[in-house]
Amino acid sequence: MRKIQMVDLKGQYEGIKEQVNTSIQEVLDNTAYINGPQVKAFQAELEEYLEVKHVIPCANGTDALQIAMMGLGLKPGDEVITADFTFAATVEVIALLGLTPVLVDVNPDDFNINVDAVERAITPKTKAIVPVHLFGQCANMDAIMQLAEKHNLYVIEDNAQAIGATYTSKNGTSKKAGTIGHVASTSFFPSKNLGCYGDGGAIFTNDDELAHIIRGIVNHGMYKRYHHDVVGVNSRLDSIQAGVLRAKLPNLDKYNAARQLTASKYDKAFEAIDAIVTPVRSGDHVFHQYTLKVKGVDRDALVEHLNGNGIPCGVYYPIPLHSQKAYVDDRYNEEDFVVTNQLVKEVISLPMHTELDDEQIKFITGKVIEFVTK
Ligand SMILES: *Cc1c(COP(=O)(O)O)cnc(C)c1O
Repeated sequence: MRKIQMVDLKGQYEGIKEQVNTSIQEVLDNTAYINGPQVKAFQAELEEYLEVKHVIPCANGTDALQIAMMGLGLKPGDEVITADFTFAATVEVIALLGLTPVLVDVNPDDFNINVDAVERAITPKTKAIVPVHLFGQCANMDAIMQLAEKHNLYVIEDNAQAIGATYTSKNGTSKKAGTIGHVASTSFFPSKNLGCYGDGGAIFTNDDELAHIIRGIVNHGMYKRYHHDVVGVNSRLDSIQAGVLRAKLPNLDKYNAARQLTASKYDKAFEAIDAIVTPVRSGDHVFHQYTLKVKGVDRDALVEHLNGNGIPCGVYYPIPLHSQKAYVDDRYNEEDFVVTNQLVKEVISLPMHTELDDEQIKFITGKVIEFVTK
């Protein structure tokens, strides 16, 4: 059996080696390392894939979130509501910009932001909601957009984990994740569903004016060379990374389908195991992570058991954001985070990537079941 990896970037590269190498060679040949033709071409190709008017590439997914918030003109004192159960980048940029993070609980089934909790957290100072499409499936965007409209709030989708997922509204219309709110951010960190070979990110929006503002912000606040109209940042996707992404984008749907197939095999293997709750699919799920909840099981001992058998796994996330030293605040009450406080003890993410074979899946599920039923 091949060695099991959490993410197999080498195996994936083998399948697209020629395209990637050609793409990178093109950059080396034309030496347009910054803002070269590969960046412009990738931007256009991603706009077409997502059916969104504007993609603005930038240096990473954290910058993308920050720049989106800067573009919306959010000011110190403005409150921004986001999920307690996510990667810290989301709350980090809110805090960095001097905005007030307002963390709320998530749903126990799909791990996404709880819309009732969002509604309860809205105050006259609230300016934006940041739903994170966690682990590869969209938050309840119908309800979030409705709430945002009612209270005149911006919606910034953190789409770092769900690129390529399709969200279908109750009215039957379908859109790609990250094209539903006012603006969205994504990350091309190597292990993401569409990852490059270094850092990268992008902002998406259908709003022409906001796109224009953001294009200036990513480039030192310049709208005309050496005229700095606003305080900006320097955040660029480099041409070599754009080259890699151009080679991978045509495979994104195939890659996501491979993840979904693996998820179905995992689901099936765990079907009859009472101690395991497999991930709920509230819609299209592109499985950035395949995350189980284990009941009545020592989760940390399970992690050790798997690691001891050569199976990498992850705990995303072990500590609620409201309990992180950097973000503790008197405003928070533990009773408001019942779900997150429970999830951090129960979740475990199994290896998930595009190259897992049946022998590996069988070995992984066998070792999980062996432990939880003993
Ligand atoms: C990965 C990730 C980010 C940050 O992306 P980087 O490119 O690493 O800066 C932000 N939010 C979520 C939910 C992520 O998973």
